[in-house]
This record gives sequence, structure tokens and C-alpha cells, in this order.
Amino acid sequence: MYKIGVIALQGDVSEHVDAMRRALGDKGIVVEVRKAGEIPECDGLVIPGGESTTISTQLEKGGMVGELKDFVSRGKPILATCAGLVLVSSTIEGDSRVKPLGLMDTTVDRNAFGSQKASFEADLAVEGFETPYRAVFIRAPVISDLGRAVQVLARVEDKIVAARQGNVLCLAFHPELTEDRRFHQMFMSELEA
Ligand code: GLN
Repeated sequence: MYKIGVIALQGDVSEHVDAMRRALGDKGIVVEVRKAGEIPECDGLVIPGGESTTISTQLEKGGMVGELKDFVSRGKPILATCAGLVLVSSTIEGDSRVKPLGLMDTTVDRNAFGSQKASFEADLAVEGFETPYRAVFIRAPVISDLGRAVQVLARVEDKIVAARQGNVLCLAFHPELTEDRRFHQMFMSELEA
């Protein structure tokens, strides 16, 4: 049985808990993670969408930053979506309020799509998927630069919206809001690796 933790400090936590429960089935359980000491007990983690400024502050206050770094260096998988993609980066363009965790060698632009295009859906051609993936974007960030260890999985126009670096998978959109579970399966295959 796998134990998957959803970082539950702010954001769309319950949607992620439900989606991960459906994806895991009888292979594991999903718990909400709120304080230090809970991260090391998980086999995999989700960092949800929400406000990256708020989640960043809460992670710092809660003494969870070191545990997250340690979790990744132990090879455990993380699924980071939207604000999560911002948090796992190593650099954030023009914004000092969010302290990036440096779990991926990426630079992130939090407002790449601008306010006019705050929310939209797009069919993505995803590396390794045989058919397009319908993605829901909500005030989505993008990866504007990346190191060689990072594999690009999908783009919108020419903007990078899905990528992985080893055991960290990040998505600018919201896989918890649709029924297509292929990114959850990708995350779960890392659990079994
Ligand atoms: N742009 C938001 C942020 O940087 C993320 C939006 C979201 O998670 N839906 O916090």
C-alpha cells in the first residue's frame, strides 16, 4: 500500500485528494499533509495549485522546506501542479515573494498568459501519450527556461507547460479537474520504479 500526501496548506486540496484516490484505487491511501514530520512518512507527494505566495510562506513557517528537499533527494516522486510548478522551480522571474524550492532546474514566469487569458482549455500533444490530452489552465505559469536535466513533456504555442526532472513531474494545468488520469499514472509509475 502506498501512502500519498497532498500538501494541504492552501489551494485545491480536496480535488487533488479525490483525483489521486480514484487513480490509486486499492493500491494506496491519500492523506492531507499539514505539518513537519508528515512528509517523510509518505511514498509520494502532490503540491496543488493555489497561491504560490501563500503556500511558500506556510511551507517556510511550518519547517517543511528541508523535508521536501530531502524527500526528492531520496528519489520519492512529486506531482506539482500550477502553483506547485512555481514552487518546485529554481528561479522565479521578477518575483521575490515566492521562495523557490529548487527541486527542478527551471525558471518560471508566473503570468506568462496574461490576465486576458486567465483561464482556458487546450488539447496538448504530450510526449509519450498516443492521443491529445485536454488540459484546464487557470492563471497558469509557464517554464521559461530550463537546464539539461529537465525533459519537456508538453507546450502550448511555444510555451512549456509540462516537464519532468527525474522523480519530479510538474504541470502548469490542473489534472485533478478532469477525468483523464494519464499524468496520475505517470506519477504512479515513479512510485513503482
Ligand atoms: N499563478 C498562481 C501562482 O503563482 C497559480 C495559479 C494556480 O495554481 N491555479 O500562485
